[in-house]
Amino acid sequence: QTGGRVADAEVASVCPYCGVGCQISYKLRDGKIAWVEGRDGPANENRLCVKGRFGFDYVSSPERLSVPLIRKEGAPRGLNVDPANPWTHFRPASWEEALDAAADGLAALRDAHGGRAVAGFGSAKCSNEEAYLFQKLIRTGFGHNNVDHCTRLCHASSVAALMEGIGSGAVTATFNECLKSDVIVVIGANPTENHPVAATYFKQSVKNGAKLIVMDPRGMGLKRFATHMLQFRPGTDVAMLNAIMHAIVEEGLYDTQYLQAHTDGFEALKAHLADYAPEKMAEVCGIDAATLREVARLYGTAERAMIFWGMGVSQHTHGTDNARCLISLALMCGQSGRPGTGLHPLRGQNNVQGASDAGLIPMVLPDYAKVSLAEAREKFGALWGAEIDPQPGLTVVEIIDAIARGDIRGMYVMGENPAMSDPDAAHAREALAGLTHLVVQDIFLTETAMMADVVLPATAWPEKDGTVTNTNRQVQMGRKAVAAPGGAKPDWWITVEIARRLGLDWDYTHPREVFAEMARGMASLDNITWERLERDGAVTYPSLSPEDPGQAVVFSDRFPTVDGRARLVPATGVSPAESPDAEYPMVLTTGRQLEHWHTGAMTRRAGVLDALEPAPTASLHPFALRRMGIAAGDMVRVTTRRGAITLQARADEALQHDMVFIPFAYVEAAANILTNPQLDPDGKIPEFKYAAARVEKAEAE
Ligand code: SF4
Repeated sequence: QTGGRVADAEVASVCPYCGVGCQISYKLRDGKIAWVEGRDGPANENRLCVKGRFGFDYVSSPERLSVPLIRKEGAPRGLNVDPANPWTHFRPASWEEALDAAADGLAALRDAHGGRAVAGFGSAKCSNEEAYLFQKLIRTGFGHNNVDHCTRLCHASSVAALMEGIGSGAVTATFNECLKSDVIVVIGANPTENHPVAATYFKQSVKNGAKLIVMDPRGMGLKRFATHMLQFRPGTDVAMLNAIMHAIVEEGLYDTQYLQAHTDGFEALKAHLADYAPEKMAEVCGIDAATLREVARLYGTAERAMIFWGMGVSQHTHGTDNARCLISLALMCGQSGRPGTGLHPLRGQNNVQGASDAGLIPMVLPDYAKVSLAEAREKFGALWGAEIDPQPGLTVVEIIDAIARGDIRGMYVMGENPAMSDPDAAHAREALAGLTHLVVQDIFLTETAMMADVVLPATAWPEKDGTVTNTNRQVQMGRKAVAAPGGAKPDWWITVEIARRLGLDWDYTHPREVFAEMARGMASLDNITWERLERDGAVTYPSLSPEDPGQAVVFSDRFPTVDGRARLVPATGVSPAESPDAEYPMVLTTGRQLEHWHTGAMTRRAGVLDALEPAPTASLHPFALRRMGIAAGDMVRVTTRRGAITLQARADEALQHDMVFIPFAYVEAAANILTNPQLDPDGKIPEFKYAAARVEKAEAE
């Protein structure tokens, strides 16, 4: 009973939205979710944001897929399908017919053209067990590693830099550790909107006396809690961070003892930084030298400091270089391996950490074992009874390009929506529409599912059991709370059925069996069992014993590299892939907003959230609007070298005068029509955070 409300039953689970991983309780009435409350989980201590608290009714949307669909003969592929009335393009099918059609089409391409004719996109919205099964299916059913998921569009460059620098892609400390920090740096992240409950811990730490430094081209919600807000020029992260490190070196604020005991490469880094004097970089990054030096002193003299970062760092063609700078900054000051210190890339999706750990990545197997290493292939080959391809697979954008070239003819997509989430979306949509055979399993007829040959209706998160891993490395148990609509089935069940039809000898009957197999192959899951998670709800990895709740801070003595030492890597990338010019004089940046989640499939069908933010907007500084003769609320046309969209202008003083910000959740004005598909060479992540753009008042229709 809460606030006078009485529930028939309650089910303990985890929020399905962001990587914070708040524990929730579904309160049920008449077999439906009536409301949601926060629980005392390790990441949220009863706190919830608006999405976790009010964003649950997508589950009972009348647009939920409830029967398998098969495309009608001759129905054109495109986004011209009404999700509420798919019968213009699809016909209903039995599970037997739909699974046979899905698998037969994929098998036919494999048999005629070889396994590489088919690729797979999994999703960080699915459970650990589902991510694990999906990558195993592509690797063992088609014999290659062309399987990826939305981590590629999120923190792939951060992971590349962390693996190179410290030998692990996960956070070195939970975000709750910030309560012990005296300095907190938040860069390229907007946690009050994107990781709202994590943001409450940053604010709490400030209230306790910590100093907060925020660095971002947009003035963030956290700004009013910050001692310093560095609103640097978009795309100049490396120049700014190298300048801060230059000042730390010049003033001797680095930790010689830590550097000697735990790192290599400082001398080369020091030499590299000589060119980045704050006085020289001030003009490049737009932050005056005195402020850069002040921030360097604040961080360099901190007792305990943590760095948090988000997509503003990673979604650049120099995203890996950006993250390299953050790793060097933390390690040169010895800010790792102790309580209140560390490096923390704030993970986006609720299970992007877990899906990556489970091997849903083209270059690594579970636990980041490189496919190129014979030892790793032998280990998982023995576990799976299969031979593993030594060639790293293609990444998300590379797969779309391979489809466009005709090298890939069939796709199996579980829970991803590349027609909305990929950069240069018109190109991605054209490629997907040209596939010979497209199988999509999802909970709604997403823009990608609209183009499918076979659509398989999946259960939503509250309709199944499974584990997820949050940004803090906390593996948590999600439990089935309500029945699925009609004939919708869990993703793991659908993947098993497809695997069997592809000739794989799979006999899993419950996710706990999948988890047990994962634990046999993944050292990160040592001492974590399904039964323990059912009992405790969450365990942080690494867990050192069956009783240990897990280690909040890792790498105190050594890093998980061959010699136990970290590597400091100088970063040079300073400019985005394209520059503004007379035709495209502004800088477009994209991202999420508090009320909407990624491509909008769930939150735009959640009543409260959609009512709060019902339509796409392009945010511009009031000065920029005045200069262009546009009023807030007018329709504007935003154009880049890829395409144009029309949407409503919104005034936002947080933006610089030459910037425009567009959230990417709205199909009617899809921001990714505009974005640049150029990739970071290491992380293979596209430059969602920077495109040259033109904004003009839209002509009245
Ligand atoms: Fe859900 Fe993230 Fe909000 Fe927590 S902060 S309630 S995990 S969306």
